[in-house]
Amino acid sequence: MKSINTVTGTTSPEQLGTTLMHEHLMIGWAGWELDCAAPKFERKAALKTCVERLKELKDLGVSSFVDPCPMDIGRDVSFMAEVASASGINIVCATGLYKEDLGNTPYFKQRTVDEIAEIYSQEITKGIGGTGIKAGIIKCATGKGQVTKYEEMCLRAAGRAHLRTGAPITTHTEDGTMGREQLEIFASEGVDLSHVVIGHSCGSADLGYHSAMLERGCILGFDRFGLDILHPDKLRLAALIGLLGVGYEKQLVLSHDTVACWLGRRLDLPPETAKLVENWKPTHVLKNIVPTLKKAGVSEEKIRAMLVENPRRYFS
Ligand SMILES: [Zn+2]
Repeated sequence: MKSINTVTGTTSPEQLGTTLMHEHLMIGWAGWELDCAAPKFERKAALKTCVERLKELKDLGVSSFVDPCPMDIGRDVSFMAEVASASGINIVCATGLYKEDLGNTPYFKQRTVDEIAEIYSQEITKGIGGTGIKAGIIKCATGKGQVTKYEEMCLRAAGRAHLRTGAPITTHTEDGTMGREQLEIFASEGVDLSHVVIGHSCGSADLGYHSAMLERGCILGFDRFGLDILHPDKLRLAALIGLLGVGYEKQLVLSHDTVACWLGRRLDLPPETAKLVENWKPTHVLKNIVPTLKKAGVSEEKIRAMLVENPRRYFS
């Protein structure tokens, strides 16, 4: 049986249960700690916020929570472990680097693909920093409309670290672009694409884009529900229901990409846009999206596939 690294030890794919595949406890952009005018980070209050959030999810039947925060945007695995212990939810953390324009790149730009692959592999097999906490997934990311040289290097490193460790890969894409290019890079590294989630694929309503990727065997993340400010839920749902209707239920996973706490200044949105994020909560899929899918005729079995079976197979 395959073992999965969580921040509090190992578990098995069979024990994952209902899994949110892409949520964050904490994000901090590189440099946040230099902002002396920002609100001070209150660790205790942040812990409380996160534990409350996860307990609410637990009450809805969620048992596992994948936090694919890359290593360079505020990842704090000890914090995650405290939240996992206090809430009783499995948390899987990631190794990997973010996209070039928002990542912490200067050091890694001077490395080779194999050096980066070795860093990722060690975070999975030996642990992160001195914590002993091991990453269970590899994150990579591309920006809108292009894969930069740096991002390609990180994608190739992710592929190589996957082959060495067996840890699956999850990605960030922007506005429904570059998913196919990401798959091409992973395939050229010899990755079995059934262990790849192309994240934020719901940012596109182009079914041709979706089916071209699904035909290669990967999983698509419909993992930004509630972020109407980026792309309306109605379009995410229309695409999802269409893909489910033609038999792709074994290759889709659901989540929200929520962020419970921000390091430094929080993401400030103009008040007139508040309505466009009012559903951006990690309970939205279970409370609102699942009932909407059922009303549209999607079977319990297909919903279970997206929330339980597909995460299980992806980690197997
Ligand atoms: Zn994310």
